Amino acid sequence: MNRRTRARWLVLALAVGLPLASLANSFRAAPLPAPPELAGELPRASPPAEMALIHLPTGLTRRSAGFAYRGGAFSDRREFTMSAALVRHPRGDVLIDTGFGRDIDAHFGQMPLYFRATTRYEAATPAADQLDAAGYARERLRGILLTHAHWDHVSGVPDFPGTPVLVPAEERAFIAGGGSLTAVARGFAEVRYEAYRFDGGPYLGFPASHDLYGDGAIVVVPAFGHTPGSVIVFVTLPGERRYAFLGDLVWQLEGITERAERAWLLRMLADADAEGVRENLLRVAAIAARFPQIMLVPAHDARSFAALPRL
Ligand SMILES: [Zn+2]
Repeated sequence: MNRRTRARWLVLALAVGLPLASLANSFRAAPLPAPPELAGELPRASPPAEMALIHLPTGLTRRSAGFAYRGGAFSDRREFTMSAALVRHPRGDVLIDTGFGRDIDAHFGQMPLYFRATTRYEAATPAADQLDAAGYARERLRGILLTHAHWDHVSGVPDFPGTPVLVPAEERAFIAGGGSLTAVARGFAEVRYEAYRFDGGPYLGFPASHDLYGDGAIVVVPAFGHTPGSVIVFVTLPGERRYAFLGDLVWQLEGITERAERAWLLRMLADADAEGVRENLLRVAAIAARFPQIMLVPAHDARSFAALPRL
Protein backbone atom coordinates (compact mmCIF):
# COMPACT_ATOMS: atom_id res chain seq x y z
CA MET A 1 0.00 0.00 0.00
CA ASN A 2 1.57 3.31 -1.00
CA ARG A 3 1.35 6.45 1.06
CA ARG A 4 -1.57 7.88 -0.94
CA THR A 5 -3.69 4.74 -0.59
CA ARG A 6 -2.96 4.64 3.13
CA ALA A 7 -4.11 8.25 3.49
CA ARG A 8 -7.35 7.46 1.65
CA TRP A 9 -8.06 4.52 3.94
CA LEU A 10 -7.38 6.68 6.97
CA VAL A 11 -9.85 9.35 5.79
CA LEU A 12 -12.49 6.68 5.10
CA ALA A 13 -11.96 5.06 8.51
CA LEU A 14 -12.38 8.43 10.24
CA ALA A 15 -15.46 9.35 8.15
CA VAL A 16 -17.20 6.10 9.12
CA GLY A 17 -15.67 5.53 12.52
CA LEU A 18 -16.16 8.91 14.16
CA PRO A 19 -19.96 9.10 13.63
CA LEU A 20 -20.28 5.46 14.76
CA ALA A 21 -18.22 6.18 17.87
CA SER A 22 -20.29 9.24 18.74
CA LEU A 23 -23.52 7.29 18.14
CA ALA A 24 -22.30 4.53 20.48
CA ASN A 25 -21.23 7.17 22.99
CA SER A 26 -24.76 8.63 23.02
CA PHE A 27 -26.00 5.36 24.61
CA ARG A 28 -23.51 5.62 27.49
CA ALA A 29 -24.65 6.75 30.93
CA ALA A 30 -24.74 10.55 31.32
CA PRO A 31 -27.08 11.50 34.19
CA LEU A 32 -28.70 14.92 33.85
CA PRO A 33 -27.72 17.41 36.59
CA ALA A 34 -29.84 17.14 39.75
CA PRO A 35 -32.73 19.65 39.76
CA PRO A 36 -33.20 22.19 42.57
CA GLU A 37 -35.21 20.94 45.54
CA LEU A 38 -38.98 21.11 45.05
CA ALA A 39 -40.71 23.69 47.26
CA GLY A 40 -44.20 23.47 48.72
CA GLU A 41 -46.31 20.73 50.25
CA LEU A 42 -48.25 17.87 48.69
CA PRO A 43 -51.33 19.29 46.91
CA ARG A 44 -54.53 18.73 48.84
CA ALA A 45 -56.91 16.03 47.60
CA SER A 46 -60.22 14.68 48.84
CA PRO A 47 -60.78 11.52 46.79
CA PRO A 48 -64.20 9.87 47.23
CA ALA A 49 -64.13 6.58 49.14
CA GLU A 50 -65.46 4.67 46.10
CA MET A 51 -62.35 5.42 44.01
CA ALA A 52 -60.17 2.59 42.74
CA LEU A 53 -57.39 2.02 40.23
CA ILE A 54 -57.29 -1.04 37.96
CA HIS A 55 -54.54 -2.22 35.62
CA LEU A 56 -55.65 -3.52 32.21
CA PRO A 57 -52.61 -5.06 30.48
CA THR A 58 -53.22 -5.42 26.73
CA GLY A 59 -49.90 -6.72 25.40
CA LEU A 60 -46.19 -6.06 25.33
CA THR A 61 -43.17 -5.29 23.21
CA ARG A 62 -39.69 -6.71 23.79
CA ARG A 63 -36.95 -4.13 24.21
CA SER A 64 -33.77 -3.66 26.19
CA ALA A 65 -32.83 -1.27 28.96
CA GLY A 66 -30.26 0.25 26.59
CA PHE A 67 -33.07 1.16 24.20
CA ALA A 68 -35.06 2.78 27.03
CA TYR A 69 -32.49 5.06 28.68
CA ARG A 70 -28.85 6.15 28.55
CA GLY A 71 -26.69 3.77 30.53
CA GLY A 72 -29.11 0.84 30.29
CA ALA A 73 -27.54 -2.46 29.21
CA PHE A 74 -28.48 -4.00 25.88
CA SER A 75 -28.20 -7.41 27.54
CA ASP A 76 -30.90 -6.32 30.02
CA ARG A 77 -33.94 -7.57 28.09
CA ARG A 78 -37.29 -6.24 29.27
CA GLU A 79 -40.94 -6.69 28.51
CA PHE A 80 -42.45 -3.25 27.91
CA THR A 81 -46.07 -3.39 29.02
CA MET A 82 -48.80 -1.95 26.80
CA SER A 83 -51.48 -1.02 29.27
CA ALA A 84 -54.58 0.93 30.11
CA ALA A 85 -55.43 2.05 33.65
CA LEU A 86 -59.04 2.40 34.75
CA VAL A 87 -59.62 5.03 37.42
CA ARG A 88 -62.99 4.49 39.08
CA HIS A 89 -64.64 7.67 40.34
CA PRO A 90 -68.28 8.19 41.39
CA ARG A 91 -68.60 11.14 39.00
CA GLY A 92 -67.46 9.03 36.05
CA ASP A 93 -64.60 6.60 35.44
CA VAL A 94 -61.61 7.53 33.35
CA LEU A 95 -59.41 5.28 31.22
CA ILE A 96 -55.81 6.49 31.15
CA ASP A 97 -54.65 5.41 27.64
CA THR A 98 -56.05 2.30 25.97
CA GLY A 99 -53.06 0.10 25.18
CA PHE A 100 -53.51 -2.33 22.28
CA GLY A 101 -57.05 -2.52 20.90
CA ARG A 102 -58.95 -5.12 18.87
CA ASP A 103 -57.38 -3.92 15.59
CA ILE A 104 -53.79 -3.74 16.80
CA ASP A 105 -52.37 -5.69 13.83
CA ALA A 106 -53.89 -3.21 11.36
CA HIS A 107 -52.73 -0.28 13.50
CA PHE A 108 -49.17 -1.61 13.66
CA GLY A 109 -49.26 -1.93 9.86
CA GLN A 110 -49.76 1.84 9.61
CA MET A 111 -46.48 2.58 11.43
CA PRO A 112 -43.35 3.62 9.49
CA LEU A 113 -41.22 0.83 7.97
CA TYR A 114 -38.17 1.48 10.19
CA PHE A 115 -40.39 1.11 13.24
CA ARG A 116 -42.02 -2.12 12.08
CA ALA A 117 -38.63 -3.55 11.17
CA THR A 118 -37.36 -3.01 14.72
CA THR A 119 -40.46 -3.80 16.78
CA ARG A 120 -41.87 -7.15 17.93
CA TYR A 121 -45.09 -7.16 19.91
CA GLU A 122 -47.49 -9.61 21.49
CA ALA A 123 -51.14 -8.72 21.88
CA ALA A 124 -53.19 -9.83 24.88
CA THR A 125 -56.89 -9.22 25.64
CA PRO A 126 -57.89 -5.64 24.70
CA ALA A 127 -59.14 -3.40 27.53
CA ALA A 128 -62.67 -3.28 26.08
CA ASP A 129 -62.92 -7.09 26.09
CA GLN A 130 -61.58 -7.32 29.64
CA LEU A 131 -64.17 -4.81 30.83
CA ASP A 132 -66.99 -6.49 28.89
CA ALA A 133 -66.07 -9.90 30.31
CA ALA A 134 -66.19 -8.45 33.82
CA GLY A 135 -69.70 -7.06 33.17
CA TYR A 136 -68.48 -3.47 33.32
CA ALA A 137 -71.23 -0.91 32.60
CA ARG A 138 -69.86 1.28 29.78
CA GLU A 139 -72.04 4.22 30.80
CA ARG A 140 -69.79 4.57 33.87
CA LEU A 141 -66.96 5.67 31.57
CA ARG A 142 -66.64 9.46 31.45
CA GLY A 143 -63.77 9.50 28.99
CA ILE A 144 -60.43 8.25 27.73
CA LEU A 145 -57.63 10.45 29.06
CA LEU A 146 -54.64 10.12 26.72
CA THR A 147 -51.10 10.69 27.99
CA HIS A 148 -50.34 11.17 24.28
CA ALA A 149 -51.59 10.00 20.88
CA HIS A 150 -48.98 7.43 19.76
CA TRP A 151 -50.24 4.11 18.29
CA ASP A 152 -49.75 1.95 21.38
CA HIS A 153 -51.70 4.39 23.59
CA VAL A 154 -54.69 5.03 21.27
CA SER A 155 -55.17 1.65 19.56
CA GLY A 156 -58.16 0.77 21.77
CA VAL A 157 -60.02 4.08 21.20
CA PRO A 158 -62.33 2.65 18.45
CA ASP A 159 -63.33 -0.15 20.87
CA PHE A 160 -65.15 2.51 22.93
CA PRO A 161 -67.38 4.20 20.34
CA GLY A 162 -68.94 7.41 21.59
CA THR A 163 -66.67 7.69 24.64
CA PRO A 164 -65.07 11.17 24.70
CA VAL A 165 -61.30 11.29 24.21
CA LEU A 166 -59.77 13.99 26.42
CA VAL A 167 -56.68 15.78 25.06
CA PRO A 168 -55.25 19.31 25.27
CA ALA A 169 -55.51 21.40 22.09
CA GLU A 170 -51.77 20.88 21.44
CA GLU A 171 -52.21 17.10 21.12
CA ARG A 172 -55.37 17.47 19.05
CA ALA A 173 -53.37 19.63 16.60
CA PHE A 174 -50.54 17.06 16.63
CA ILE A 175 -52.99 14.32 15.60
CA ALA A 176 -54.46 16.48 12.83
CA GLY A 177 -51.01 17.60 11.68
CA GLY A 178 -50.30 14.68 9.35
CA GLY A 179 -47.16 13.13 10.88
CA SER A 180 -46.45 9.41 10.49
CA LEU A 181 -46.47 8.79 14.26
CA THR A 182 -50.14 9.83 14.53
CA ALA A 183 -51.43 8.08 11.39
CA VAL A 184 -53.19 5.50 13.60
CA ALA A 185 -55.09 8.09 15.65
CA ARG A 186 -55.89 10.15 12.54
CA GLY A 187 -57.35 7.07 10.86
CA PHE A 188 -60.12 6.63 13.44
CA ALA A 189 -63.56 7.62 12.19
CA GLU A 190 -65.77 9.80 14.36
CA VAL A 191 -63.75 10.18 17.54
CA ARG A 192 -65.41 12.51 20.04
CA TYR A 193 -62.41 14.63 21.04
CA GLU A 194 -62.90 16.88 24.03
CA ALA A 195 -60.15 19.47 24.46
CA TYR A 196 -59.44 20.62 28.00
CA ARG A 197 -57.40 23.60 29.15
CA PHE A 198 -54.85 23.85 31.93
CA ASP A 199 -57.08 26.20 33.88
CA GLY A 200 -55.69 25.37 37.32
CA GLY A 201 -52.65 26.68 39.16
CA PRO A 202 -49.14 25.23 39.56
CA TYR A 203 -48.95 21.61 40.70
CA LEU A 204 -45.85 19.89 42.14
CA GLY A 205 -43.46 22.10 40.17
CA PHE A 206 -45.50 22.10 36.95
CA PRO A 207 -46.66 25.57 35.92
CA ALA A 208 -50.35 24.71 35.40
CA SER A 209 -52.85 21.92 35.89
CA HIS A 210 -56.33 20.67 35.13
CA ASP A 211 -58.29 19.13 38.01
CA LEU A 212 -60.83 16.86 36.32
CA TYR A 213 -63.46 16.80 39.09
CA GLY A 214 -62.26 19.64 41.30
CA ASP A 215 -61.49 17.28 44.20
CA GLY A 216 -57.77 16.83 43.54
CA ALA A 217 -58.25 13.11 42.81
CA ILE A 218 -57.39 13.23 39.08
CA VAL A 219 -55.11 16.11 38.09
CA VAL A 220 -53.49 16.50 34.65
CA VAL A 221 -50.38 18.63 34.04
CA PRO A 222 -48.75 19.63 30.74
CA ALA A 223 -45.50 17.70 30.14
CA PHE A 224 -44.99 18.60 26.49
CA GLY A 225 -41.94 17.15 24.74
CA HIS A 226 -42.34 13.47 23.79
CA THR A 227 -45.29 14.77 21.76
CA PRO A 228 -46.47 18.41 21.51
CA GLY A 229 -49.36 17.75 23.92
CA SER A 230 -48.03 14.98 26.22
CA VAL A 231 -49.39 15.09 29.77
CA ILE A 232 -48.84 13.49 33.17
CA VAL A 233 -51.88 12.30 35.13
CA PHE A 234 -51.69 12.42 38.94
CA VAL A 235 -54.18 10.12 40.68
CA THR A 236 -54.81 10.26 44.42
CA LEU A 237 -56.82 7.45 46.02
CA PRO A 238 -58.29 7.42 49.53
CA GLY A 239 -55.64 6.83 52.18
CA GLU A 240 -53.16 9.20 50.48
CA ARG A 241 -52.14 6.63 47.88
CA ARG A 242 -50.68 8.75 45.10
CA TYR A 243 -49.66 7.84 41.56
CA ALA A 244 -48.14 9.73 38.65
CA PHE A 245 -48.89 8.27 35.21
CA LEU A 246 -45.93 9.55 33.21
CA GLY A 247 -46.87 8.41 29.71
CA ASP A 248 -43.70 8.09 27.61
CA LEU A 249 -41.78 10.89 29.34
CA VAL A 250 -39.45 7.99 30.18
CA TRP A 251 -39.80 4.38 28.98
CA GLN A 252 -38.55 2.79 32.19
CA LEU A 253 -38.34 3.97 35.78
CA GLU A 254 -34.56 4.45 35.64
CA GLY A 255 -35.21 7.40 33.35
CA ILE A 256 -36.30 9.22 36.51
CA THR A 257 -34.30 7.47 39.25
CA GLU A 258 -31.04 7.81 37.28
CA ARG A 259 -32.05 11.04 35.52
CA ALA A 260 -31.27 9.23 32.26
CA GLU A 261 -32.81 10.52 29.05
CA ARG A 262 -33.16 8.44 25.91
CA ALA A 263 -30.08 8.01 23.70
CA TRP A 264 -29.62 10.57 20.91
CA LEU A 265 -30.94 8.25 18.17
CA LEU A 266 -34.13 7.47 20.13
CA ARG A 267 -34.66 11.14 21.01
CA MET A 268 -34.44 11.96 17.29
CA LEU A 269 -36.89 9.22 16.30
CA ALA A 270 -39.38 9.30 19.18
CA ASP A 271 -39.46 12.77 20.74
CA ALA A 272 -41.02 15.89 19.21
CA ASP A 273 -38.98 18.15 21.53
CA ALA A 274 -36.09 16.53 23.41
CA GLU A 275 -35.45 19.71 25.43
CA GLY A 276 -39.06 19.65 26.68
CA VAL A 277 -38.67 15.99 27.68
CA ARG A 278 -35.49 16.84 29.62
CA GLU A 279 -37.16 19.72 31.48
CA ASN A 280 -40.16 17.61 32.50
CA LEU A 281 -38.00 14.60 33.38
CA LEU A 282 -36.15 16.81 35.88
CA ARG A 283 -39.44 18.12 37.27
CA VAL A 284 -40.50 14.53 37.98
CA ALA A 285 -37.05 13.71 39.41
CA ALA A 286 -37.54 16.63 41.84
CA ILE A 287 -40.96 15.23 42.82
CA ALA A 288 -39.47 11.76 43.36
CA ALA A 289 -36.75 13.18 45.61
CA ARG A 290 -39.13 15.23 47.73
CA PHE A 291 -42.17 12.91 47.78
CA PRO A 292 -40.96 9.31 47.37
CA GLN A 293 -44.42 8.10 48.41
CA ILE A 294 -45.81 9.09 45.00
CA MET A 295 -45.67 5.98 42.86
CA LEU A 296 -44.24 6.71 39.42
CA VAL A 297 -45.83 4.79 36.56
CA PRO A 298 -44.03 5.15 33.19
CA ALA A 299 -46.47 3.86 30.56
CA HIS A 300 -44.29 0.91 29.57
CA ASP A 301 -42.69 -0.07 32.89
CA ALA A 302 -44.13 -3.47 33.80
CA ARG A 303 -42.67 -3.28 37.33
CA SER A 304 -44.68 -0.14 38.18
CA PHE A 305 -47.91 -1.57 36.78
CA ALA A 306 -47.40 -4.90 38.57
CA ALA A 307 -48.21 -3.14 41.85
CA LEU A 308 -51.71 -2.16 40.63
CA PRO A 309 -54.69 -4.51 41.07
CA ARG A 310 -56.17 -6.26 38.02
CA LEU A 311 -59.83 -6.84 37.23
ZN1 LIG B 1 -45.05 7.45 22.79
